[in-house]
Amino acid sequence: MRLIGLFLIGAFALTMNALSQTPESLAADWEKSHITRIMPSDARSADVKKYIEQLRSMGVTVGEVGRSCNDREIYQAEWGKGPLKVFMWSQMHGDEPTATSALIDMFAFLQKNKEVPWVKTIGEAITIRAVPMLNPDGADLYQRRNLMGIDINRDAADLRTPEARLLKQLRDDWSPAIGFNLHNQQSLTTVGTMPSQATISLLVVFGDAAKTVTEGHARNQRVAAAIVSALLKFIPGHIGRYGDEWTPSAFGDNFGAWGTPTILIETGALYGKDEMYLVKLNYVAFLTALNALATGSEKTQDPGLYLALPENGSGNLYNFMFRGAWVPAAAGQPPRPVDIAVNTDRRRASFAAPNFIKAMGDLPRSYGLEEYDARDYYVVQRLGSLRVGSMGEFAFYKRDRVIDWAAPDLEKQYPPDAVFSAGKWMKGSIPSRRP
Ligand SMILES: [Zn+2]
Repeated sequence: MRLIGLFLIGAFALTMNALSQTPESLAADWEKSHITRIMPSDARSADVKKYIEQLRSMGVTVGEVGRSCNDREIYQAEWGKGPLKVFMWSQMHGDEPTATSALIDMFAFLQKNKEVPWVKTIGEAITIRAVPMLNPDGADLYQRRNLMGIDINRDAADLRTPEARLLKQLRDDWSPAIGFNLHNQQSLTTVGTMPSQATISLLVVFGDAAKTVTEGHARNQRVAAAIVSALLKFIPGHIGRYGDEWTPSAFGDNFGAWGTPTILIETGALYGKDEMYLVKLNYVAFLTALNALATGSEKTQDPGLYLALPENGSGNLYNFMFRGAWVPAAAGQPPRPVDIAVNTDRRRASFAAPNFIKAMGDLPRSYGLEEYDARDYYVVQRLGSLRVGSMGEFAFYKRDRVIDWAAPDLEKQYPPDAVFSAGKWMKGSIPSRRP
């Protein structure tokens, strides 16, 4: 009796292990096992080559399937032996690197855990092929376009670039049943008109301008719903829906037209979290999708969860907002208060990113990821004049101080109360306020 009881408990535990993949357990798996170690934006093609070697030494099949304009290798990894063909590609835009790291980590995990029941189920149901970093030349230059200056994702019709020709050929030779097109979007993209960052945006891409809901499209909506439901555990309020206007020259749209309905995943950013966190979210999204497809659990997903996502917005969120800072009197003008909005330019993680003034004036419907209440301060631009387009380098002075603004060497004669430089408080600070 006791033995049977133990056996039942053991069998139950095994079953739970097979079925109870939660988003949290996937995230914990990534924490334990991810093999990418450098920030995705710092990874060059040579780093991806090293990752590929690691995958090969683990037993993952990876082949060189083509070369870029500048003769750099483009790889495709393959895993699983199932009948459902899933094709994924990342970084066709060179400066959009998050998913490349996530794909590498996904293959490493699948291979290491291939005997774990739920992973085994994926391998029996699905064959996955993925091209991490389709645009190695762009990645090495940290630019969107390929070496010819062509946007590969606007080259699906003309096929002027070797990278676009390769991507089309890989699809046509294999005819995958589902595609994942993996990108990054601007870090200040918002969820609808809310001032919250769209950390992940999804689009179930239509295969025609008439927006026909095919069987594959409906399935992809359910797969997207599974992804949303998993990501809600980590980033509620930070998931958006990418605009779905038909783009005849884009790959996602054409993949659908050619017979491979595709899901677009766009990674943005999340205030206070680094790029590795975003890799983890991608990884959770990929494995959730594969698991849902392999077990058939996608069939029970409510597409409404995807369809209800607010569309991406932009333009009302900035990196920094200084509210009501006083511009000192000058040239007969009395002092006046202004809101100053500052954004940080996109750079590789290890590079210093410059900050620029993007808007000035009365900005009640705009928000900063960091907001400061500057109503009790004068503000002075430290490098040049205070205007839109100049750098976000500021000295702040309490308003009750008497200062000769025309003094040469102003900061030496009148040490500021606070200095904001390179996106940080270098000296003192002014009160922050929550947006
Ligand atoms: Zn892109």
